[in-house]
Amino acid sequence: MESPEQINAVAEAVSKTGARILRAGAFKPRTSPYAFQGLGEKGLQLIREAADKFKLFVVSEVMDLSQIEMMGQYVDIFQVGARNMQNYFLLRALGEIQKPVLLKRGMSATIEELLLSAEYILSGGNYNVILCERGIRTFETYLRNTLDIAAIPVIKKLSHLPIVADPSHGTGRRDKVPPMARAAVAAGADGLLIEVHNDPDHALSDGAQSLTPVEFAQLMTEIRIIAPAVGRRIP
Ligand code: PEP
Ligand code: MN
Repeated sequence: MESPEQINAVAEAVSKTGARILRAGAFKPRTSPYAFQGLGEKGLQLIREAADKFKLFVVSEVMDLSQIEMMGQYVDIFQVGARNMQNYFLLRALGEIQKPVLLKRGMSATIEELLLSAEYILSGGNYNVILCERGIRTFETYLRNTLDIAAIPVIKKLSHLPIVADPSHGTGRRDKVPPMARAAVAAGADGLLIEVHNDPDHALSDGAQSLTPVEFAQLMTEIRIIAPAVGRRIP
């Protein structure tokens, strides 16, 4: 989603099928410094405009505490990415604001480390933390990461915080996203983070794991069947 037209098209499509929050990165923590780094503040403006048009909330990744004030003008939820899960200065700063924080599990972090990172935010007085299982590094290399579905019931037992799953980064492969999304909901996830792009083969980031709007709509239909089986409802 790099052009205003693309951002609008995706916002419109996902809002129609029941998504509530538009997540797009304006500051991208790319593994290579030579890869597309995001559109910066201009990108945040585009995301905000598209979200307002289709009555969606905005979540976007904050990479450094110097960005918090500026980003606060555009986002409803701050995302802390896997690579920053143990950036304790950033976590403490986010503990001093009142906007919700989506805290992603580090790629080699244990569940306990994730919960302790959340404590950095909570202990500052910001109780609005959403945890995210986004896959971890294991000996298995077939997929991008190993989505730790078991972390969902474990966290449900250990913490009162909501836990969402990200099968997009958790698998890295478009065709593996729907089955793992369904499994995450069946396991008790409170939400899903799904990457959608209207032209994934030409996406500047993570195209291989992005669903098309049509695939996303199909997945939502399936999730609406699974959710009630485990006592959940999708409004
Ligand atoms: C993202 O959500 O776009 C992202 C970079 O994810 P992660 O931090 O989980 O790698
Ligand atoms: Mn991504």
